[in-house]
Amino acid sequence: MEYIDLRSDTVTKPTPEMREAMAKAEVGDDVYGEDPTVNRLQALAAEKTGKEAGLFVSSGTMGNLAAVLAHCGRGDEVIVGNKAHTFLFEAGGVSALGGVHSCQLPNRPDGSLALEDVEAAIRPDDPHDPISRLICLENTHNRCGGTFQTPEYTGQVAEFAHERGLAVHLDGARVFNASAAQGIDVKKLTGPADSVMFCLSKGLCAPVGSVLCGSQEFIKKAHRIRKMLGGGMRQAGILAAAGIIALEKMTLRLAEDHARAKNLADGLRQIPGLEVGEPATNMVFLSVGESVPYSAQELAARLKGNGVLAGVTGSRQFRLVLHYWIDDAGVEAAIKAFGEAVR
Ligand SMILES: *Cc1c(COP(=O)(O)O)cnc(C)c1O
Repeated sequence: MEYIDLRSDTVTKPTPEMREAMAKAEVGDDVYGEDPTVNRLQALAAEKTGKEAGLFVSSGTMGNLAAVLAHCGRGDEVIVGNKAHTFLFEAGGVSALGGVHSCQLPNRPDGSLALEDVEAAIRPDDPHDPISRLICLENTHNRCGGTFQTPEYTGQVAEFAHERGLAVHLDGARVFNASAAQGIDVKKLTGPADSVMFCLSKGLCAPVGSVLCGSQEFIKKAHRIRKMLGGGMRQAGILAAAGIIALEKMTLRLAEDHARAKNLADGLRQIPGLEVGEPATNMVFLSVGESVPYSAQELAARLKGNGVLAGVTGSRQFRLVLHYWIDDAGVEAAIKAFGEAVR
């Protein structure tokens, strides 16, 4: 059975064009820096994000970890949101592997950090304190509902950080969704940050990989850390070939997913018992009211029987994610399946 898989945009399979490019990719040993396709992807990523250099990494988690370790030494502190992916969902890597202490600030509903909170969190130069070294932002913000931050906000945080000698890392796993939602060049969002990581393997459909971008000097450090983490790959051009298509083509179509997210939300809102949020990008969040006699888990099983896979995020909550492989018919079918499942 072909499911309409709304659990995440990570379920996206490579497009036929990607598979063809992968089969034909020119490759070399990337640990020697000799894979022409990896080099091309890294240069393209740097150009798109307005940075000097890029580094292909096997996952977003590795990219964020390498970034934090390149910015911070042991005992330094990173300021991070309490709903940040880096804080919640990366197995505590920055502290376990880097000895980096984290200061967690409350994320506001739109995924941002309040500047006053950041200001209060920056440590004085006192031997009792760890050294505040880095601020991590996330755009779009996953746990906060696919919300996006503006270039103005990002610029403010960066200016503030730089005045106080801190760096800014942007967890931009879905930063191209953030730029598409605002109709702006992604450089406006990545420019203010010292480093940025984005994922090729989510809404951009590539099978594997992320790219970390920053200054030459920063990427040189991150490169050594990637090796330390076991992330040196050999003929990785096979993967990078799909990444190039992801960057050149798939970034241009994300607004379609956002429009379908709105249509899905509008359709689901008509179903009695469902409370549906307004999607900011490609994610729809919904709660199941008390009038519905099923938990989210039970509903998910009923939906599966109707060919729809939905992400359960709470006892009565779902997250549905739009992506390349969900078309208008898929949206209609998902709305119909929900209508039947709640009855
Ligand atoms: C998915 C994601 C990551 C990590 O990427 P992986 O490739 O799954 O390791 C980091 N940050 C955010 C916001 C993400 O959504």
